[in-house]
This record gives sequence, structure tokens and C-alpha cells, in this order.
Amino acid sequence: MSKTPYKIYLTEEEMPKVWYNLKAVMKELPPPMLNPGTLKPITAEELKQVFCDELVSQELNTTDQYIEIPEALRNFYRMFRPSPLVRAYCLEAMLDTPAEIYYKFEGTNTSGSHKLNSAAAQVYYAKQQGITSLTTETGAGQWGTALAMACAYYGIDLQVFMVKISAEQKPYRKTVIETYGGKVIPSPSNTTEAGRKILAEDPETTGSLGCAISEALEVAMKTENCRYVLGSVLDHVLLHQSIIGLETKYACEKYGIEPDLIIGCAGGGSNFGGLIAPFMGAKINGKADIHFIAVEPASCPSLTRGRYAYDFGDTGQTTPLIKMYTLGSGFIPSPNHAGGLRYHGMSSIVSKLYHDKYLEARAVEQTKVFEAATTFARCEGILPAPESAHALAVAMDEALQCKESGEKKTILFGLTGTGYFDLAAYRDYNEDKMTDYIPTDDDLARGFATLPKVD
Ligand SMILES: *Cc1c(COP(=O)(O)O)cnc(C)c1O
Repeated sequence: MSKTPYKIYLTEEEMPKVWYNLKAVMKELPPPMLNPGTLKPITAEELKQVFCDELVSQELNTTDQYIEIPEALRNFYRMFRPSPLVRAYCLEAMLDTPAEIYYKFEGTNTSGSHKLNSAAAQVYYAKQQGITSLTTETGAGQWGTALAMACAYYGIDLQVFMVKISAEQKPYRKTVIETYGGKVIPSPSNTTEAGRKILAEDPETTGSLGCAISEALEVAMKTENCRYVLGSVLDHVLLHQSIIGLETKYACEKYGIEPDLIIGCAGGGSNFGGLIAPFMGAKINGKADIHFIAVEPASCPSLTRGRYAYDFGDTGQTTPLIKMYTLGSGFIPSPNHAGGLRYHGMSSIVSKLYHDKYLEARAVEQTKVFEAATTFARCEGILPAPESAHALAVAMDEALQCKESGEKKTILFGLTGTGYFDLAAYRDYNEDKMTDYIPTDDDLARGFATLPKVD
């Protein structure tokens, strides 16, 4: 076979016309979301008070393996998709590994990450339903930016509750969101009851995603024709992100690439769930033998050290209960730079697959992540988002393993975005000021103590 090109592009016509719904393929489904008051499975009617109707249908859909991507939405996707699958020839040469390394690169749009895939879809359905404003939270800022881009395109108002520490560390992220027309409120804020309560308890708090979610939810509930949108964790977000996995699979088939190993970083689990979706489906159906690895920061280790339990999605304890690997909604990670991976829980689909041993999870420390990121930037040219570099670090470990064993594995990882807004963290690393933080068992115990009693 001829040598694979550096960049494998699909044509616009080859861009997927459907999403892949992994729940229709899984042998056992994740347990349902529960109403925290009644502990009964949440109903579509209840969810529709907070989320757009079509997104609720997608959230609860366990039967359709493929769900159509509307034509008008595909026109939006065409502005930045299909995204390239890249053969990391330079990295392979630098590592002197017999392994083949590929990465699916989602950093080709201005928001700088895969998040625009779901932002575009969610705002499209909001528009269809006649919603006039949306609220959300953002941690590192990629989701807020992606959503602001989509809201600008569809003409919808947007309020973004941005984790306070991120708003301070990344002032330019705020500027980008505002340039696209979104309104940014550092969280916790005194504009909501949830925010005021958290501030009263701890005025110095640097904020957390869970806390920003509580605030955004409250505004959505109290505002006419307003809905809340979430950038990760939920099943419909994983569904939208399956476009990453489908494009990757089509590209692999086009060039005869058969990955042995697929690696993704996992914050709330959406890019990882989306990247692996069709490959995992093939594995579940006995049609492929692929090893999957979810990589998380050692500072926020929901899969590797968390509990599989029902928990709230937010610090304010207002969301439905989700069965997931979690550190407890009261877990506030140290204010270091794990950025978009600082969430206490994990997608219920990814959690269930992990629980049933369909995938492996690893935690990596921050300095190791930046070491990998720097190596990659110097040989492949792209400045990776720190989140993405978690996957990269493990891909490099595996490639070095192949060098030792002489195995010629095909390693594929998700490069979810670029790191232009993470330069403060890169500077800390360059100046040798970056520290690793690993929570002690006592730190984790404090988070677990906030788990609701469900049984
Ligand atoms: C948000 C983000 C992540 C993590 O989110 P998931 O929902 O776990 O995918 C990873 N990489 C980048 C670049 C991000 O912006």
C-alpha cells in the first residue's frame, strides 16, 4: 500500500450525515438520570423545563443507532469540518518508534476545540424551537467561545458564567466571547441566589464548573424563553461529538488504517465518547479488537480514583442525579491549570463502559503533560491545548513502549484543540514554576462526603 499522506482529509461530501448513538449498541445501558426529589427516573417533561425539546429527545434516545444531522446544521459544520486526521510522521521519527501514530485534530476553528460540534447543534435546535436566549457555564473558556460563535451565527442572546479563576487567568478568552456577542459573568457571582449562597460560605472561592452550572441553570429557569445548554457530560453532547469518531472511522477505512489503540483526554467525557463511539460499537459487536484509554489529570481523577455513584452535576445540587464516576459535587479541584478537565464527574456512558471494562483509564500529572505538549509543538508544529496533551502524553508513552517491545502498533489519539489561551500555563512550565498537585485520600474523602444518599 502507498504511504499514507501527512494529512488525511475527507471531502465535504464524505462528511457524516448522521450521528452515532452508542446507547443503541451498548449491551447494558447506563442507569437513568433521577429526579433528586423523588428519586424516580427523570421524565422528558421535567428535562424540557431546562433543555430544548429536541435535545431532550436525543438525551433519552436508546434505540436509534444513527440520528440524522439536519442539512442546515451540516452547512454550519462545513465552515470548519471535516477536520483532518494527521499521521504524526515527525513525532514517530523523533521517538524512533516502530508504531504508527495518528491524531484527529479538532483545533481548526476559532474556538480552538471540538466543542463547536455540539454548540452548533444545540443552538440550531434552540433556534428551531423559538428560544431567544441561552445560558451556560464555561471552565477554561472553550465552551463559552464555541457557544458564542454559534449564537452569533443563529442570532441568539447568550449569558456565560465563567469560572472565576479562568476569567482571571484568561482575560482574552472573555474578550473573544464578548467579540462574538456573548455576555460573560465571573462565577460565583452575586447575580444569582446560587452564587450568593456559595459566596456567603466562602467569599475567597476561585469557583468551579459545578458552581457556574448552578448559576446558569437558575437564570435559565427564571427567564422567559430561555434554556440552558451544557458543553459536555450529557448523552446528547456525546452524540454530537460522534462526528469526530465517524470522520475518523471513514478516514481510516479510506486509507486502510486499523487502530490498535485509541486514546482521548477525558474531562466530562464528550470528546472521548465521541471519538470512540463507532469504534466502540464495532468492539461491542465483536467486529474490532481495539484498546481504548481515557486520560484524565491526576489532580481531578474521577475515573481512576472516583466512586461509581449517583451524584449531582453541579455544586449547588440542583441538577438531576447522574450515575457516574465522580469525586463528589463538593470536590473543588486545586486552582492549577488542568483547565477544561477540572470537572468532578464523568459522562454516564463513558462511566458505564469503564465500569463494564470496555476501556482503560489513566491519570497523568501536569508537568508530564506539558513536557509532552512541548515536545509535540517542537516536532509537529501545533501548540496543543493542555487538555489534549493528556492524550498525547499517553500516546507517546505507548509509542515508546512499542520501541522497547518492537511491536508495530497503530496508535490514534484525539488532539482536541489548540493552546493559545493557555500561555500562562506554558510560561509557568517554561520557567519551571509548574507544580503537580495530587489530591490526598483525605481531600477525596471530603468530596465523597458530599455524595447524596440514594439507596
Ligand atoms: C473542554 C475540552 C476538553 C474536555 O472536555 P470533554 O467533554 O471531556 O471532551 C478537552 N479538550 C479541549 C481542548 C477542551 O476544550
